[in-house]
Amino acid sequence: MMKGKSLNDYTEDIYTCNRTRCGFCREQCPVYHVKVYETYSCRGKMLVGRGLIEKTLSPSVEITQILDRCLLCGLCEARCALNNLDIITSMRREMVHRGCPTPVHKGNVERILEEGRLLDARAAPERDGQFTLYVGCVYRSKPRELATALSVLERLDIHPLIADETCCGYIVEATGFDKEFEMIQGQFKKTYQQMGAPEILTLCPTCTATLKEKYGLPVKHAIVAVAEQLRKKQQAVKPLGFRATYHDPCHLGRMLGVFDEPREILRHLGIQLVEMENYRYFSTCCGGGGGVNAVDPDLSIEIAKNRARDAIGVGVEIITTVCPTCEPTLLRAAGRLAGEVGTFVDVQGLWDLLDKALD
Ligand code: SF4
Ligand code: SF4
Repeated sequence: MMKGKSLNDYTEDIYTCNRTRCGFCREQCPVYHVKVYETYSCRGKMLVGRGLIEKTLSPSVEITQILDRCLLCGLCEARCALNNLDIITSMRREMVHRGCPTPVHKGNVERILEEGRLLDARAAPERDGQFTLYVGCVYRSKPRELATALSVLERLDIHPLIADETCCGYIVEATGFDKEFEMIQGQFKKTYQQMGAPEILTLCPTCTATLKEKYGLPVKHAIVAVAEQLRKKQQAVKPLGFRATYHDPCHLGRMLGVFDEPREILRHLGIQLVEMENYRYFSTCCGGGGGVNAVDPDLSIEIAKNRARDAIGVGVEIITTVCPTCEPTLLRAAGRLAGEVGTFVDVQGLWDLLDKALD
């Protein structure tokens, strides 16, 4: 079980940033792009880290608020030689350890510890197929979306086995509650490692990355299995025949390297794919990551509006994606943006597009 390093372990990295101040991380940071205030960029957060290490800054609500306004999207890390996400997460741990946790995150952590889940599980599907599927808290709270994904999988002869499951604990680890994360890992492992599945299919990109990186489990996002099956079966579909752009979820794309399969599926469905300016490895976040939507929904929406603007900028009317957080975040923002600029870009999940084309 990997344990996060302490902030002091990153002293040299933080000083390296403070000395170079190259700023390659800054302009594309979705939070900086909205706030236009150095402190919210990764470079600015590195200065906060130095202040905490040298004790020229004391933990405070203001510092917690700055550290909370990070999507953990990894775009800064893609442009920097440092382990930026580990460093930012270690600062969040430092704030929790030094008595300045974020109340809303603390509440979520307590709920996961008590109930084993982050959200109300309105969907409790039972399946006893041969492919172990981890559904995750977000899909369990969305019965329609989950039913659509399961129906697509089953129509492609991918029959899931769904067990009782507990939250993977991503948000607990990401918001700095490392001791609680260890407890949650213990609960989670009881279910999943006992099953000994050679491979676990997943639906949520964030759960996929967490199961792989924090538990060392053999995971495959179900959309990859769908791409493989469409290819293998030479599956006939009803071509959808419109233009759309694809938004890469940070965890599925930049962190797990799944860029090609969703695009391969879109082509298979007869969709003309138009790429946005920032795509694949350098895609920008939808605004829903890292717990930002819980602490600052207005910031989250402004970031998502920028992503919707990217889509409008390439002249498409539909954004598709394959993440249960990106999809509603972008859709809400697209509605707000339409009221401001008079152009609505629709957001449709890849599972819904598959559902229509396989009908
Ligand atoms: S975080 Fe990395 S890219 Fe940003 S200023 Fe520091 S060294 Fe440069
Ligand atoms: S992880 Fe994303 S939001 Fe956070 S500082 Fe880096 S680029 Fe900005």
